Amino acid sequence: MQLQHETLFNNAQQMLENERADYVRLHPQSMQLSVSANEHFLYGVPMHWMNDWGTPAPLFVKYAQGSHFTCVDDIYYVDFCLGDTGAMFGHCPPALAQAIAAQASAGFTTMLPSSLTPNVGEALADHFGLPYWQLATTATDANRFVLRWARAVTGRKKLLVFDGCYHGTFDDAMVDMTMRNETIVDAVVGKTINRSSLLGQVYDLGQYTVAVPFNDIATVERELAKGDIACLLTEPALTNCGMVPAKAGFIESLRNLTQQYGTLLVLDETHTISTGRGGWAKNHGVVPDFLVVGKPIAGGLPAAAYGFSAAMAEQMKAAKDQAPPGHSGIGTTLSGNMMTLAAIHATLTEVATDAAYAHMLGLAESLEDQLIASIKSHDLPWNITRLGARLELQFCEATPSNAEEARNAQNDVIESAIHLYLLNRGVLLTPFHNMMLVCPATSVDDVKRLAYIFDECLNELSN
Ligand code: PMP
Repeated sequence: MQLQHETLFNNAQQMLENERADYVRLHPQSMQLSVSANEHFLYGVPMHWMNDWGTPAPLFVKYAQGSHFTCVDDIYYVDFCLGDTGAMFGHCPPALAQAIAAQASAGFTTMLPSSLTPNVGEALADHFGLPYWQLATTATDANRFVLRWARAVTGRKKLLVFDGCYHGTFDDAMVDMTMRNETIVDAVVGKTINRSSLLGQVYDLGQYTVAVPFNDIATVERELAKGDIACLLTEPALTNCGMVPAKAGFIESLRNLTQQYGTLLVLDETHTISTGRGGWAKNHGVVPDFLVVGKPIAGGLPAAAYGFSAAMAEQMKAAKDQAPPGHSGIGTTLSGNMMTLAAIHATLTEVATDAAYAHMLGLAESLEDQLIASIKSHDLPWNITRLGARLELQFCEATPSNAEEARNAQNDVIESAIHLYLLNRGVLLTPFHNMMLVCPATSVDDVKRLAYIFDECLNELSN
């Protein structure tokens, strides 16, 4: 007999209360630092959302190495968040630390290409399979720049994205689709609107951005057929609203349809680098017009890149050469600096190796099996969805096929209770959903620890 949702919810509420009290007791130094940091930092943190983890005060970190970190209260954690992918290849891999140390006394930034430039280009091309590249400092910027190129190259204005997408804080993609509910009349269901949480945006983003449901190829074609979409930007699976994998053949159909209607296909692989070495597209034989990668490509130092074909490179040059000289709107001073080039090179050639991926994927599969066994033994209507080294726990029986289904499965109280229960026992999950990432340094024991504590947590929740 499946546990009644109400019992589960009540147990989660009680668990949350207990765990919050335990967090305060276990973390006196973090509690203290949150007070002192509050004197000069908004919300007491360098980025306001660091305060949104659901802990009574932020967890302040002292030291991170491999798959572990230690907080200021000297508690040792197994890290399955890994900076939400920034540290997907582990904290401070030795080869990267050495490359950074060597570059540290040879220059940080000059606004000129360093001698390593050809080697980095070669490493990007070899790793991701596209011949031409440009760098940016964040994946947000890379997406923003690619949209600009796409508009310049096609002469079209609009962007097509999927409901539930997140491509960084680049405004054009910060939209939602209106859903059917009691306050929305049929005529405005499916309309593209500014994401309600977006601060300080005065433009109607729906003017040039269209959001449609993921895995709905008919609606994609209806929009592409209008002939005004410059590019379709998507991840190969939605990874920021829970996890929504593409149905078999969906991304391939996007490739065919975009080609048919003269729209450029941009695959943002910032998170789906977890699929395997080179990312989802390379491993599935799909060649996008632009490929965006960020976060872990320099091991967690700020760096991002976008790749494209030789033919696209020619079109980009033509568009740029036709424009008057001056600011292109594509830039940022520190992008492609000497330190970043050294870090990307070491990461791609020495850290993100076939052997590293073999380890990550094997362990992630084992973690998936152990978590599913635990969910089944507690008779819970939940599932685990995995994309290579990346796993997502979702509170629904079947893997969602679009963002609406993923959102409907979310339950903040149950989610927060699980996160805090694990955190208080030395295991960190990714906040704001239930993502777990396995890195090359993650050990069999790390995985066993998460599986064991998760099982204990389910025992308490279903009691
Ligand atoms: N693309 C995707 C798919 C992301 O998940 C994110 C961030 N979570 C970004 C782009 C933006 O990355 P950044 O915050 O490093 O700019």
